[in-house]
Amino acid sequence: MSETFTFKAEIKQLLDILVHSLYSEREIFLRELISNASDALHRLQFELLTNRDVLDPDAELSIDVTLDEEAGTLTLSDNGIGMTHDDLVNNLGTIARSGAKQFIELLKDRPEGTQASDVIGQFGVGFYSVFMVADRVRVVSRSYHVDGQAWAWESDGSEAFTIEPSDKSERGTDIILSLKEDAQDFLQPYTVKKIITTHSDYITFPIYVGDEEEPTNSQQAVWRKAKSEIGEDDYNKFYQAMTLDFNEPIKTIHMQTDSPFQFYALLFIPGGDERNMFSPRKEPGLKLYARKVLIQDYSKDLLPEYLLQFIQGVVDSEDIPLNVSRETLKADPQITKLKQTLTNKVLTELKRMAKNRKDDYLKLFDLHGRWLKQGLAMEFSDREDLMELMYFPSLNNNGSDDWTSLGEYKEKMVEGQTDIYYIIGDDNASVARSPHLDAFRRRGVDVLYFTDRVDPIMIMGLQEYQGAKLRSVDDRSIDLSQVGHLSAEDASNLEPALEANQTESILERFRTVLGERVAGVSVGANLVTSPARLVTDGTNPNNFMFRVNRLFDRNFELPIKTLEINPRHPLIHNLNLLLTQDGSGALVETVIEQVFETALLQDGIHPDPASMADRIVKLMQAATAR
Ligand code: ADP
Repeated sequence: MSETFTFKAEIKQLLDILVHSLYSEREIFLRELISNASDALHRLQFELLTNRDVLDPDAELSIDVTLDEEAGTLTLSDNGIGMTHDDLVNNLGTIARSGAKQFIELLKDRPEGTQASDVIGQFGVGFYSVFMVADRVRVVSRSYHVDGQAWAWESDGSEAFTIEPSDKSERGTDIILSLKEDAQDFLQPYTVKKIITTHSDYITFPIYVGDEEEPTNSQQAVWRKAKSEIGEDDYNKFYQAMTLDFNEPIKTIHMQTDSPFQFYALLFIPGGDERNMFSPRKEPGLKLYARKVLIQDYSKDLLPEYLLQFIQGVVDSEDIPLNVSRETLKADPQITKLKQTLTNKVLTELKRMAKNRKDDYLKLFDLHGRWLKQGLAMEFSDREDLMELMYFPSLNNNGSDDWTSLGEYKEKMVEGQTDIYYIIGDDNASVARSPHLDAFRRRGVDVLYFTDRVDPIMIMGLQEYQGAKLRSVDDRSIDLSQVGHLSAEDASNLEPALEANQTESILERFRTVLGERVAGVSVGANLVTSPARLVTDGTNPNNFMFRVNRLFDRNFELPIKTLEINPRHPLIHNLNLLLTQDGSGALVETVIEQVFETALLQDGIHPDPASMADRIVKLMQAATAR
């Protein structure tokens, strides 16, 4: 008695494409089957850690490929976890797979250089690649349960599949492919072995072809091989197989350590944004093996969260207790130690790279720097290291991509300078025009540009660097009079300031007009070419909180700041004259409003810039009146 099921619609569509339009790289069907077999063996191995009540508990875990030229069949067998009746029905045809849809999308719109066959596995539909080479497939499986019963799944890859009871005395799965006329080459041992060594060499279980006694694959996990035996190419290939990232990693870290305890680690920093829709790595985490058994696919206990966000890799330890639950693993002292060792290694390697290969490091920082900044804000214990890894654009190398580290900044501080200055804003072009920079520019004092969206968060962890305080340029208490030098030209170029009493009446007028919108109005010593700017009290820790809130789309209120006026600026001189003329009150008020809102705009915090348009028209009208 056999039952018949029809494939889910998207599987049918996928099969149609596989059967009729994908002809290149068909050999990858074997890689997909081996990968499934290896998963099944890993899952059994994991089961065996806690459960001996398993069919054939002592059988060698292996994968076998049998070639029958006469019958035209290739059979791939594993003695892994196996599938029950329901597993066969669900896993091989009736459960909706979002991956199938995504894969079909990819075929329509594939990134340059992608071979569909290269990535099919990532979509969780690898099994179906068998229909590229077979016109009939039979899967006979028996689950690991002692009282399990064997079932056979069979299909020609068009509309439907059948399930019927079958005979199989051993645990595991046999996949029998009746090869198409044009796929008979896959019956040659030479061909099959070549495919295995190319695509599946590092599979940790032995793969036997035919009656051969020696496994075809070396089984050596890359990370367990001596470094001298591995080339960059091997690392990259492994990385790409693991992540299906089309880019090469920008940094590879391979550790093999005996003390304080024995472990291997192979970590990668992606060279692009590898979490694309094709990525098979669906969440952050490292693969954790203990004595070659895969314990966790996404271990989150081996690196701090901010590093897990972009680092991929494998950790393999001889010393981790095998049979602890995943929950208690976190608290295991070995794991804690391991985490510390790995974190230190990663940070040390990054620092070394920044020092010796700055250009490469800046690329890495461009890709993943936001996570490092998050770490700086959140992970107190890594703060000292992370500070060395921060790079920023700055006033003195305006427009160039050669960013400055805090160390480089400090080395180039000018005479009398003890603090590190930064300006926070939305982008480099607008901060470069900021009135806050007037005085710094004239004195040759560099200012770091904090223009990344996450910088307001980063600042929480960056108050001081090696004894130098970090200060925002809009801090009203910054006094540059003893810092650096003014060129002779700059020194003589200053307009005369208004008389003290004239200045005072201007300030008073500003106060009246702006009222509660400002914390105060005062004279600004650091203003040169701009008429006004908004300053803060540098000791207020909440100065940038509104930016953080804005980033997270939370409600926020703009901080109330102090407006500084430049009594040397021609505009302020003009206002002074206007004040003495009867009937010019309305114009003075309009100018004051605009001075204030321009300052908001320059700081990137104007809530509604378009609202200034009417006023600007009025001002132009006044300016053009004859
Ligand atoms: P993926 O392996 O990415 O999930 P596949 O289409 O290749 O997608 O396989 C579908 C499912 O069928 C697997 O997730 C697994 O549950 C099951 N399966 C496939 N091959 C085997 C096997 N050899 N042993 C046990 N289960 C298997």
